[in-house]
Amino acid sequence: MGKVLIIGAGGVSNVVVHKCCQNPDVFSEICLASRTLAKCEAIKNSLPPAKTIVRTAQVDADNVAELTALINDFQPVMVINVALPYQDLSIMEACLATGVHYLDTANYEPPDVPKFEYKWQWAYHDRFVRAGIMALLGSGFDPGVTSVFCAHALKHHFDSIETIDILDANAGDHGYPFATNFNPEINIREITAKGSYYEDGQWIETEPLAVKRTYDFPEIGVKDIYLLHHEELESLALNIPGVRRIRFWMTFSEKYLTHLRVLENVGMTSIEPILFEGRPIVPLHFLKAVLPDPASLGPRTKGKTNIGCIFRGIKDGRPKTYYVYNVCDHEAAYAEVGSQAISYTTGVPAMIGAMLMMKGIWMKPGVHNIETFDPDPFMDALNRHGLPWQESFAPVLLD
Ligand code: NDP
Repeated sequence: MGKVLIIGAGGVSNVVVHKCCQNPDVFSEICLASRTLAKCEAIKNSLPPAKTIVRTAQVDADNVAELTALINDFQPVMVINVALPYQDLSIMEACLATGVHYLDTANYEPPDVPKFEYKWQWAYHDRFVRAGIMALLGSGFDPGVTSVFCAHALKHHFDSIETIDILDANAGDHGYPFATNFNPEINIREITAKGSYYEDGQWIETEPLAVKRTYDFPEIGVKDIYLLHHEELESLALNIPGVRRIRFWMTFSEKYLTHLRVLENVGMTSIEPILFEGRPIVPLHFLKAVLPDPASLGPRTKGKTNIGCIFRGIKDGRPKTYYVYNVCDHEAAYAEVGSQAISYTTGVPAMIGAMLMMKGIWMKPGVHNIETFDPDPFMDALNRHGLPWQESFAPVLLD
């Protein structure tokens, strides 16, 4: 049906490319472009035989002129941005310059400020409307599927939603003493930041990892969960009318947190450059270089993820609770596409979001968060493309 340009060649990109190639009727041709051409080639060479034509290119996605030239040359219908959050704005600029649609899985974060917010990308809305093109923000798992779960709950299960708890559990074991499941820099910046949640129209800040509970997850068991700030909270607080409280929780093992504490205490998680042997280096960049590459965790990781949302609200005048979640198996994901479940759970929704845009099912000019669209075709596609969801009407609630 059409051509897509996929930018970035990491763990998530590997999944997106594989899943697009499983759907050649929608994705007839792919250009996979990233900073390091060899990584694009490696993904291309790992693909099973498919009808989709795949070509590769080298591009610096911080450089709008380079991106614009690549888009003009390849003429895609849309760009799937699975590089890093730092590249969001330059890629959106290039989409505006060339009139092609845009999709990403993580919101913009300035490289020198550890603060992710939608304001920079939302500021592009009018320009996208005028250009007649669409940007779909946050089409990964969280944000992404969790946001669609909220739209689904509102459409089918509640007249009004009072509270939302988003629970992200990873019970995978890769056998290393310490490694991050996706880009270490993004991951560590996220969890060493202050926590926050939305309640009664206000943002309440907490010290990093200061709020802890335990939860007994379906298919995974009892895990420690910690309250974090997470980007979908910002848009959901606006887009789920009347919601009183939204919180985000993630599992961390005691071993993981002990390593993290030590690394923090010795200054290794800092993004402030220091002078080392005469040249400035960012400690967190150095740490990333010595940690296992997330892509290398795939063949070693066993166990499952469980990510979902627990809702409390009102239906037909009566209180109601609802839990919708997906369980993804690391080894099954690896066997299918050569990436573990963290990349899989992000890459599949990116492909689904792109598919709905390519088919015109989700298409409106402007910059839009994913929960503003009809959730039904996306929920249906999750079941058909590897991330089936399950539901419970009597979940244990978090206090
Ligand atoms: P990786 O670090 O594995 O891959 C990032 C890729 O982007 C690398 O190939 C990297 O190139 C490339 N890249 C970085 N800078 C540039 C640049 N200037 N120009 C061109 N290419 C560049 O990350 P992941 O695959 O794990 O994550 C991809 C995205 O998905 C991130 O934005 C992440 O935040 C997001 N994500 C979203 C989740 C969700 O649920 N919503 C969950 C997990 C991730 P090189 O190889 O040369 O370094």
